[in-house]
Amino acid sequence: MHNSIDMKQGWEEALESILNNMGCAVYVRDAETQEILYANRVLYSTFDEEIREGVLIGLFEQDMVPGCIRGSRKVHHIRRGRWYDVYYTRMEWMGDRAVTLFVIHDITEKKAFQKRMEKQSYTDLVTGLYNRLCCERDLTDYIRAAEISGGKGILLYLDLDDFKNINDGLGHQYGDMLLKAVSRSLKGMEGIENTCYRVGGDEFIIIIPPSGCRSLREIVNGIVELFEKPWYLGDRDYYCTMSMGIVSFPGDGRSFHELMKKADIAMYEAKKQGKNRVAVYSGQMGAVSGRRLDMEKNMRDAVLMDYEEFRIYFQPIIDVREPGFPCVGAEALIRWDSGELGLIPPDEFIPLAEYLGLINPIGSHVLREACRHCKKWNDSGCPDYKVNVNLSVIQLLQSDIVESVEGILQESGLNPRNLTLEVTESLAIQDMERVKDILGRIKELGVRIALDDFGTGYSSLNHIRELPLDVIKVDQSFVKDLSGDAYSQSFIRMVGELAETIGVSICVEGIETREQFQILEGMKVRMVQGYYFDRPLPGDKFEKKYVPGWNDKAEGRGGREDCRLQKEFTNDQCGNM
Ligand code: C2E
Ligand code: CA
Ligand code: CA
Repeated sequence: MHNSIDMKQGWEEALESILNNMGCAVYVRDAETQEILYANRVLYSTFDEEIREGVLIGLFEQDMVPGCIRGSRKVHHIRRGRWYDVYYTRMEWMGDRAVTLFVIHDITEKKAFQKRMEKQSYTDLVTGLYNRLCCERDLTDYIRAAEISGGKGILLYLDLDDFKNINDGLGHQYGDMLLKAVSRSLKGMEGIENTCYRVGGDEFIIIIPPSGCRSLREIVNGIVELFEKPWYLGDRDYYCTMSMGIVSFPGDGRSFHELMKKADIAMYEAKKQGKNRVAVYSGQMGAVSGRRLDMEKNMRDAVLMDYEEFRIYFQPIIDVREPGFPCVGAEALIRWDSGELGLIPPDEFIPLAEYLGLINPIGSHVLREACRHCKKWNDSGCPDYKVNVNLSVIQLLQSDIVESVEGILQESGLNPRNLTLEVTESLAIQDMERVKDILGRIKELGVRIALDDFGTGYSSLNHIRELPLDVIKVDQSFVKDLSGDAYSQSFIRMVGELAETIGVSICVEGIETREQFQILEGMKVRMVQGYYFDRPLPGDKFEKKYVPGWNDKAEGRGGREDCRLQKEFTNDQCGNM
């Protein structure tokens, strides 16, 4: 008997010692009288203040579900700035008393660690913005909240227009600098400080919860304005705009993926309209985007299939200063005869090819084919025929563009002075110094440069002076209303004068009627193109009609005279266009 009492005492002491040395606070409370029957040393030493103030029970037992046998909850002790896990369980005390055992673990460090990990996994390392994962989590919450409150939230989806140029052309260092600069500016905008996310290489999302929707217009305008200015990247300013798609939730979608898909469709619509544009999603866009996806897939296949579906047409360029208005070469214009989608004009697929980065291989194909054809013309009795090839901004800003042009010239054996590369003005404002340098190096190869679509977009007379140009091509829009519009007439006359002064030729495109052509007389225009003379023709047709040496070979007739175009003949032809 004695022995068993001793043993019991020994056990209790051992148990007490264990409880006092556990890394957690423990107490037992009578379920009926609410009296604390036991508390370990950790509880007394940690929560002496709370015990003295009588707030211990309120702190750890608030919100406990009555009648619940066991459970756990997290408690935030605001005054101490600590977090606790509280486990409780009903049990019997000394055989007949119903009590509740409480075990309290301090989890502050664990929680802080978790928070750090969470922050890391939700943060984009390059920009410090929240990442895609975080966006998905937050958006899901915002959608749910909007559904409950009946409100409407907005998602803005931004894709940078010129990121590829900067990243591929100048290097990742500059790409990263740009992403950081954009992120800093977005985050600095009032109302969206905490809802900016980087969700892809150069894609950003901004969520405007229902409460912030009233300032939508302000936010969107603010973003557009932000991108109208250049970005300072370490050494100088670079232009980079964005295209924005806008969707609302829950109206346009109730899940992250659905909203992302629609925002992407709207964004692409914005991109098609030009740079720094914004488009709001509408149901009709869905069908259009189906075509875009079809085009995307088919275009990738067409590139893989050795470009067979891409055809190069040639539109004659006419020298109006020579008697008889001879053809002096042609502009190469691409067409895509897609087996699945039919004939697709360049205006429709070139922007997509640029967006997908496929313009580089496709553009090289055009250049290769154009050089190959022109070499044949030069070898077939027209040694001075020139070929003009359109070069997209994306191509021009590729880091190896000069080597690529040089390689193709060598491969074809074409005399470099018979190649003219047409570039548009929009690229000039991007980074004048870089564009000047690239064009300068291309010119060193002996290749000529034409400034295409002059008079549209970002026209600046300074471009004419600064860029190493050989030809200025006046945009077709000036020809359209040439007969009735004094402005168009004066514009062409002025460009003609200017071009002559700086030793550059002027080419007017899009001449469709005799009247338009006649108005140009005396305007110092050197070359013309247009349906009035001829449409773009497949290679063999162009050769038959405009390369006399070709005819010699093919039909045993012809001569230099055939190069000359009879105005009357083409005028008749114009009728059935
Ligand atoms: P662009 O360089 O301004 O080419 C002239 C466009 O005007 C061509 O359209 C041509 O067919 C059309 N055109 C010629 N004469 C007349 C006329 O009298 N009246 C009218 N209304 N139009 C005329 P196309 O072939 O549809 O090409 C459209 C644009 O697509 C081109 O405009 C060019 O920017 C782009 N493009 C075409 N081929 C290529 C290419 O190989 N590479 C690149 N990057 N862009 C290309
Ligand atoms: Ca052109
Ligand atoms: Ca043009």
